[in-house]
Amino acid sequence: MMHEALLWKRIDDSVATVRCSLCMRRCVIENGQFGWCATRINQNGTLYTLTYGNVAQLSISTIEKKPLYHFFPGSMWLSLGGVGCNFKCHGCQAWDLSHCDVKKKVQETTYMSPQAVVKKAKQNGCQGVCFTYNEPTMWFEYVLDVFKTAKQEKLSTCLVTNGFMTAQALNMLGEYLDGYCLDVKGSFMESYTRIADVSEINTIFSNGSEAKRRWAMHVEIVTNIIPGYNSSEKELKEIATWIFAELGKDTPWHLTRFFPYGDFKEVAPTPQALLENMRNMAMREGLLYVYIGNIPGHPGAHTYCQKCKKPIIKRLEYDEIENRMAQGHCPHCKTLIFGRFAF
Ligand SMILES: [Zn+2]
Repeated sequence: MMHEALLWKRIDDSVATVRCSLCMRRCVIENGQFGWCATRINQNGTLYTLTYGNVAQLSISTIEKKPLYHFFPGSMWLSLGGVGCNFKCHGCQAWDLSHCDVKKKVQETTYMSPQAVVKKAKQNGCQGVCFTYNEPTMWFEYVLDVFKTAKQEKLSTCLVTNGFMTAQALNMLGEYLDGYCLDVKGSFMESYTRIADVSEINTIFSNGSEAKRRWAMHVEIVTNIIPGYNSSEKELKEIATWIFAELGKDTPWHLTRFFPYGDFKEVAPTPQALLENMRNMAMREGLLYVYIGNIPGHPGAHTYCQKCKKPIIKRLEYDEIENRMAQGHCPHCKTLIFGRFAF
């Protein structure tokens, strides 16, 4: 639905040109034109979003699916996706949502008001509302309104994001957002360019730090390891070092297995041994909770006590969990485990 956008400025009154400052592409958009993401249009010097409330995908699913492992384990979330993206990831698994003809795809979506979203979450006993599937920044105005409504109703909120929004955008979400699941595709500019067609990455990292430090969000990091693209130990070690220094050693890091898809269908799936080696590397670097993802039943998906090393939460197939956590502590040695847990 057409809705006036947030975070833009008219930069030339004589020709009604605007600059969008929602994401780091910071598109300059002439009258009648769209931004890079195609979800925003300049009409006579005013920027509008085309996708406000247009829900393309909806499910009620566990928090483990996001994945967030130290944030209300086992809880159910109303999870929403819209259309469009500000990245162009060659191996994107959500191509039909992210890289579709936005104007056309919007016609196939269902409009849901923020009130309707919150009502549905409550009716289904959800812990909260999560924006995922496509990049949530694309329908920022809607995400913000849904989160404000959710907070009034004492629901939790969560975002699964590429982190490429501007600092202004993150700060507007700040007080309404609880869980920040950040996809970090690499630590080298070159990797981001090859994987996602992006040429500015500093903000992705500074937003991650701000989410944690300024806004006290629960932050977890996900890295999908694509062989030959972001799989070198040097690059992954840099990510581990950044997490340790900026987010803290107790920040969970998910190393997930890549599966060939889209333009990357010739790339091999990530070898299991590589994931295991990088998990060991990250733990040697001092991170306490490093997980292996997309290999169902792998012991690297369980949460272990950092002190006595015994498993506390076991993650089985189909997102089933066996949770032995005792009020946020290890049941064996009583060590405090980092995260947010429902008692
Ligand atoms: Zn223990």
